[in-house]
Amino acid sequence: MRFSGWQVLRQGLTGNKGWKPQWRNPEPKPEYDIILIGGGGHGLSTAYYLAKNHGLTNIAVLEKGYLGGGNVGRNTTIVRADYSLPGNSEFYSHSLKLWEGLSAELNYNVMLSQRGVYRLFHSDGQRDHFARAGNAIVNQGDDALLLDQTALRKRLPYLDYDNARFPIHGALYHARGGTARHDAVAWGYARAADQRGVDLIQNCEVTGIDVENGRVRGVQTTRGAIRAKKVGIVVAGRSSQVAAMAGLRLPIESHLLQAFVTEGLKPVIDTVISFGMGHYYISQSDKGGLVFGGDMDFYASYAQRGNLPRAEQVTQAAMTLMPMIGKARVLRSWGGIMDMSPDGSPIIDKTHIGGLFLNAGWCYGGFKAVPGSGWDFAHLIATGHPHRTAEKYMLERFKTGHLIDEEGSGAQHNLH
Ligand SMILES: Cc1cc2nc3c(=O)[nH]c(=O)nc-3n(C[C@H](O)[C@H](O)[C@H](O)COP(=O)(O)OP(=O)(O)OC[C@H]3O[C@@H](n4cnc5c(N)ncnc54)[C@H](O)[C@@H]3O)c2cc1C
Repeated sequence: MRFSGWQVLRQGLTGNKGWKPQWRNPEPKPEYDIILIGGGGHGLSTAYYLAKNHGLTNIAVLEKGYLGGGNVGRNTTIVRADYSLPGNSEFYSHSLKLWEGLSAELNYNVMLSQRGVYRLFHSDGQRDHFARAGNAIVNQGDDALLLDQTALRKRLPYLDYDNARFPIHGALYHARGGTARHDAVAWGYARAADQRGVDLIQNCEVTGIDVENGRVRGVQTTRGAIRAKKVGIVVAGRSSQVAAMAGLRLPIESHLLQAFVTEGLKPVIDTVISFGMGHYYISQSDKGGLVFGGDMDFYASYAQRGNLPRAEQVTQAAMTLMPMIGKARVLRSWGGIMDMSPDGSPIIDKTHIGGLFLNAGWCYGGFKAVPGSGWDFAHLIATGHPHRTAEKYMLERFKTGHLIDEEGSGAQHNLH
């Protein structure tokens, strides 16, 4: 069934009885050409682009829980392409362009809202850094606009510009950035991949990876052994654990990141704002909740739930930035597991095991990457060569020292 305004009208007038399940629930076959481990945003988009761009459909996505139950459904939904380092620039630029056509492409409303992203700066040094970054972003063909305090005050009058510790001097504005509905992205890719014949197998945890004579042969799962010619590991926060099943030791640490949402409020923040002095970012959902987050919990963990000291620190940052938020009541918080790489940039690469591919290290920026990552990982798996926008996302860089350190935080996982 194609989704359209006409369908909504038709189903509404006939008791909404005609909607069908959006994907099948198949039993796993004994063998596939390609198995993707992980039914998050990146696994599902990879499956879709393998089918659509490369005509490969004998594929299974194996998900240990339910589709979209991982980070893809837990993030703060910010989408942007304001990256300035070679390697990241072309990749995120490519990904944002895919976002811009995604609802039409998938026939699924992913609710992309290009409401703009403001990154605030609080010192002259930070302004100079943002000016340089803005020039690089414009050079790569994306948009960036440096705003001084006067211009910013007109746009965002509710910020605390005169905060004694972190006065706001201006912002780097990225008009094409914004938010998207996270669940819809997972569901849209899942439905479109299923329609092209991909088997999406839920409640199927991979417990082992079979390797013989240096080549991958398949996987062991809680629903039995499944053979495959190629296997892609796309499990975000579980990357190190799953890669270890094939004897790989990854340069990744898993850390926890929380997010928060307030009660529904009337429209007050019509954009995305990120605080440049601490780590804090906020937007308002279509339901009215203020959605925000901050730093990770800073210790390695697979807990998927956050700690209270970090909740206190994040709400302090919120109050510093916009004291009016103190009137809002926080309804919920939740956590996800971040696959932190040492330079804060991702890995889309082959491994030394024939037929075994790796997509990992998205840190807390992987939601915006979902379309680009799926496109590029599918390209690598299908052709054996990196896509031109992911040429720098090789594992080798951790050996050679050619890091892509956008934050300038050094080789410490939890600081990115
Ligand atoms: C609180 C929070 C806020 C964030 N905010 C943003 C943001 O604003 N913008 C942004 O760009 N990014 C953001 N991110 C990061 C982004 O969500 C992640 O980088 C991205 O979702 C990771 O890729 P994924 O969607 O494939 O991961 P996931 O959805 O986690 O998918 C991985 C899947 O693998 C499955 N899996 C694991 N092990 C196995 C196994 N053994 N067998 C089978 N399946 C397995 C998991 O169950 C999971 O479903 C945020 C993350 C969090 C938690």
